[in-house]
Amino acid sequence: MQHKSMRPGTTAVHGGQSPCPLTGAVMPPISLASTYAQASPGEHQGFEYTRSHNPTRYACERCIAVLEGSTIPEEVDPSMGGFAFASGLAAISTVLDMLETGDRVVAMDDLYGGTHRLFSQVKARSQGLDFACVDLSDPSTLAEAVDENTKLIWVETPTNPMLKIADLAAIAEFGRANGIMTACDNTFCSPMVQRPLELGFDICMHSGTKFIGGHSDVIGGFLVTGDAALAERIRFHQNSIGSILSPFDSYLMLRGMKTLSIRMQRHCDSAMHLAKWLEEHPRVRRVIYPGLPSHPQYDLARRQMTIEGTPAGGGIISVDLDGDLAGTRKMMESLSVFTLAESLGGVESLANHPAIMTHASVPDALRAELGITDTLVRLSVGIEDVADLQDDLEQSLDAMG
Ligand SMILES: *Cc1c(COP(=O)(O)O)cnc(C)c1O
Repeated sequence: MQHKSMRPGTTAVHGGQSPCPLTGAVMPPISLASTYAQASPGEHQGFEYTRSHNPTRYACERCIAVLEGSTIPEEVDPSMGGFAFASGLAAISTVLDMLETGDRVVAMDDLYGGTHRLFSQVKARSQGLDFACVDLSDPSTLAEAVDENTKLIWVETPTNPMLKIADLAAIAEFGRANGIMTACDNTFCSPMVQRPLELGFDICMHSGTKFIGGHSDVIGGFLVTGDAALAERIRFHQNSIGSILSPFDSYLMLRGMKTLSIRMQRHCDSAMHLAKWLEEHPRVRRVIYPGLPSHPQYDLARRQMTIEGTPAGGGIISVDLDGDLAGTRKMMESLSVFTLAESLGGVESLANHPAIMTHASVPDALRAELGITDTLVRLSVGIEDVADLQDDLEQSLDAMG
């Protein structure tokens, strides 16, 4: 398999894949068997037990690995540095389990709510990890936040829901210089728009539930590394902890990945159109979108987030409405093409109220500090006709009164 030189749109379809050697099937069969026959004790074909090895999961893991730019050959690591988990949080938890009690993790302050909860309410207690959350959109905060026990820098960019951007190349360089492992939650961009490993990160993580699965019908998570020694450590922990992606869900993920390239292009194009339009709307106080010149880190976003060299702002827009909570509720209740729901990254457009929905578990004071107000609405722009999306936003903004 030689996919290294191919462009992401081709890799999404063919990366790490080859037709089934037995039948020629172009999609790998869903291999449900939990165990595999051995010819003699210890003599097998590379598959012993499905928690440890599964051909459908491997196929999906290799595809994300190649998409994220891992160059580990299949002969060195059977899934080429890609690892699939039962959820995004299971993937994050597995990274934290590679650390020792007392280690410090420096993380972005504006994290996905569930990640913040895992850090502060579970791992701080169960594993004795020390978490320092700082604003990594200013890389100079890093030097102050790290101490000699710091073993991991955890970054999310753009952040959720304020869409702050962290300079991945600068953070990777800091990590390398100080011997600290770096990991980036790349869920909001997908490998089509941003590839942290190519910017020097050690680990790239995804909630596959979002853009990668893309159809709001599967929960899963990924880790990818381009470092063979780190891949071996992740494989050991994936197998030891056991929070793996099932064969059926691996098939769904792989199916989603095949269309990732065309979906991301459409998400980005439609989001750009709507963000520009919303910025002019009288009921809108502020639009936060990395593709708009009004974004405080527009230049960095243009460098770091691209589709085949062309700047791309992603599929998520945060909008601060000019009104109060009651007006915001009215607007959200009036949506008919956008569905009012948690999650993001699916083919259908979703609207979310972070303060009440996804970020309810973030303490009030921190929410206020981050700017997650009662009038903030996060939009996940789907692949519907953008004119219908605009009409829907227009009538619902009118409904605010
Ligand atoms: C959804 C999400 C997660 C958690 O993933 P699950 O698949 O829901 O466990 C982590 N990070 C980000 C940015 C997310 O959007």
